Amino acid sequence: MPEGSPITERHGRLQEAIANVVGPRHLLTDPADLAPHLTEERGRYRGRTPFLVRPGTPEETAEVVRLCAEARVPMVPQGGNTGLCGGAIPFETGDEVIVALGRLKRIRDLDAENFTITVEAGCILADLQQAAAAANRLFPLSLGAQGSCQIGGNLSTNAGGVQVLRYGNMRDLTLGLEVVLPDGRIWDGLRGLRKDNTGYDFKHLFLGAEGTLGIVTAAVLKLFARPREIVTAFVALPSPEAAVDLLGRARSATGEAVTSFELIPRLGLEMTRRRVEGCSDPLESPSPWYLLIELYGGGETGALGEALESLLSQAFEAALVTDAAIAQNAQQAADFWRLREGLVEAQKHEGGSIKHDVAVPVSKVPAFIAEATAEVQRRIPGVRPVPFGHVGDGNIHFNLSQPDGAERDAFLACSEEINEAVHDIVARFGGSFSAEHGLGRMKVAEAERLKPPIEIEMMRRLKRSFDPHNLMNPGKVVSAGHT
Ligand code: FAD
Repeated sequence: MPEGSPITERHGRLQEAIANVVGPRHLLTDPADLAPHLTEERGRYRGRTPFLVRPGTPEETAEVVRLCAEARVPMVPQGGNTGLCGGAIPFETGDEVIVALGRLKRIRDLDAENFTITVEAGCILADLQQAAAAANRLFPLSLGAQGSCQIGGNLSTNAGGVQVLRYGNMRDLTLGLEVVLPDGRIWDGLRGLRKDNTGYDFKHLFLGAEGTLGIVTAAVLKLFARPREIVTAFVALPSPEAAVDLLGRARSATGEAVTSFELIPRLGLEMTRRRVEGCSDPLESPSPWYLLIELYGGGETGALGEALESLLSQAFEAALVTDAAIAQNAQQAADFWRLREGLVEAQKHEGGSIKHDVAVPVSKVPAFIAEATAEVQRRIPGVRPVPFGHVGDGNIHFNLSQPDGAERDAFLACSEEINEAVHDIVARFGGSFSAEHGLGRMKVAEAERLKPPIEIEMMRRLKRSFDPHNLMNPGKVVSAGHT
């Protein structure tokens, strides 16, 4: 079981000073309380910490950071701890304090006319979505962990999800930020402006920084009109090439109403049917590939459904589509989504997985899938690739399940070699080896292998200028390197 680490004299004094700021009950030291904060979703990392602190306001957060900085004790910001690269987990050395943001969860303001919401970092994503809906507005960020991930974590990983195609990722949804800098000062950049060309745009430095440049305490986020019509379809098609062709047609034919465009291979559908309760094949005959398409419309109800029907029948004639079902009600739409959302869960029951969260230009998705599939099959005969996900924005989760009957550990021992091979193919297509999950701790070395040296140098310089003593989530995103 993960443990807290022994309190050194230095940590002891700091603990006392911090307890005076937040109150003793918001400073956790009991190993049982700490345990869920010391390991993560995929169980890859188990960290140690002298204690975890839960500040209740931005001012308390600032004072905690100031005290840590003064004592030269490193900090790890933590939100909902749903991140997939180990960014929110302290190292095993046991000297890093966890700063958990869960108590900063107020919605400070919702300006329906400005289409903005000002929210604190610890607010759960699903709570924010509901607050927007209650004001007849839409906050479009949507992902599998939305019931437990926090806005600060979404901002710090620049989260994506299933509606990036239409609304963008967290970077595109953010207008302003409030951040506690590594020395404990607060930067108030909470501006709800669509236009502000008054020099460097600092918010972008903290978005996707995974807590290495400061602790986000609040944000101003964009809201949108709620859709009046939602149309969801499950479509069978012969190939990823047909999917990319259909995407172009769908975007043109619907006036950019395509909100989600998710690719699912037959093997993925079979795994989900086998392993996840309540999942069945919506179509009569098997097909090598499927798409889950969702459109949001604001116009006359019914118009979007008709546009999609007409598009699909033209696509059928052009042999791009072989079968399709359009959801007739919300339950059917939810059933289609269960097939997509159940993929990760289903793969867990199919033995070991080697996963890649990659992006290439949308037009290159079919060639990438073909080349990467051939390469991994050449290296591990019998491996079962399940490439799925956000084909609409070029982000494919190129996940591999172990061959039937293989030894799990022997398969997972190939991870490094396979990761390198897949990432090298991604690089040849001008893609990204981490499209939406970030670098955290897991992909720092891979970033140093694949990113141009000048980018790594700029990252290190930036890190040093914000955090000269390397106290803010050190060792994540970029290593300190040589000066
Ligand atoms: P944490 O895991 O707590 O932290 C993530 C990183 O941000 C860490 O480096 C941490 O130090 C830092 N951090 C957290 N809060 C702050 C703060 N206030 N200030 C500064 N730094 C901070 N991601 C996607 O992009 N798209 C998906 O579709 C998607 N689906 C997912 C589905 C599941 C089932 C799961 C488990 C994860 C998924 N993710 C997805 C991963 C995604 O990164 C997280 O779900 C989410 O964005 C992280 O939020 P969190 O609050 O859990 O952050």
